[in-house]
Amino acid sequence: MKKLILFLTTLIVVALISACGQGATSPKEKDEKLQIVTTYSIVYDMIKNVGGEHVEVHSLAPIGSDPHNYDPLPNDLVLTTDADAVFYNGLNLEEGNAWFNEMIETAGKSIEDTNVIRVSEGVEPMHLSSEGHKNEEDPHAWLDVRNGIKYVENIREALKKIDATHADDYDKNAEKYISELTQLHDEIREMMAEIPVEKRVLVTSEGAFKYFSAAYDFQAAYIWEINSHSEGTPEQLKSIIQIIKNEGVPSLFLESSVDPRSMEAVSRETGVPIHGKIFTDSLGKAGGDGETYIKMVKWNAEMIADGLGK
Ligand SMILES: [Zn+2]
Repeated sequence: MKKLILFLTTLIVVALISACGQGATSPKEKDEKLQIVTTYSIVYDMIKNVGGEHVEVHSLAPIGSDPHNYDPLPNDLVLTTDADAVFYNGLNLEEGNAWFNEMIETAGKSIEDTNVIRVSEGVEPMHLSSEGHKNEEDPHAWLDVRNGIKYVENIREALKKIDATHADDYDKNAEKYISELTQLHDEIREMMAEIPVEKRVLVTSEGAFKYFSAAYDFQAAYIWEINSHSEGTPEQLKSIIQIIKNEGVPSLFLESSVDPRSMEAVSRETGVPIHGKIFTDSLGKAGGDGETYIKMVKWNAEMIADGLGK
């Protein structure tokens, strides 16, 4: 049914574009904004920081939702078809369940197009190891802020290519943003270094903290390694409960974009409290906690320091 809706929407979109006699890639009028689509909210925020007043950005997976498993709506397809550029994470985030590839094709674009941009280009990938996912790339590179900076560099280069008229603005915005991110990385490193090494065991539902743990010297433990359709199995619960007991972990953490029930069960079983929510695959809601990439990373670090540092 989903495919049929996508197909029919495509027909309508194609008919409309033909009727207007112009494609989505026609040159922009002087003050017309670039129409940009991205797959999830964290990259949405980065593009807004670099693009400023020259871009209008739509995030396919809305804030609070899981970009691993997103089901696009007909309007997402219309916007993707019309977009001047599409930005995605790569590293197996959106391709894991193939929703993004299918969407791009239905929108008449190709992953090979120069205006379909993988923001993780140049990041050294880490790999999954659990059954069913062995050797797949781990997508959560943005939780190491140095990788976030690489994303921003890629966004800057892409915007300059697509819209050379405003290249100076993209450079200026990106430089300011990168200097904030460089400072953020140093701050997080200092904050994490204050937690005693033996307490740096970070327990979350999804194993989203591999890059974070490598960058800031933590051990990441999780119920399931990556969000998919089979998570929180009895074996997975048993294994994490054992780790929590062995390591004497004082606090558990719950991501804002996952089903809380498994972590609640682990907390009940071990008697270890869930210390608070953290942000991994999505920003927090606008006007609330973690509403930007910088704020979500800071929020996480403070929550982790508070839960493990004592
Ligand atoms: Zn994830």
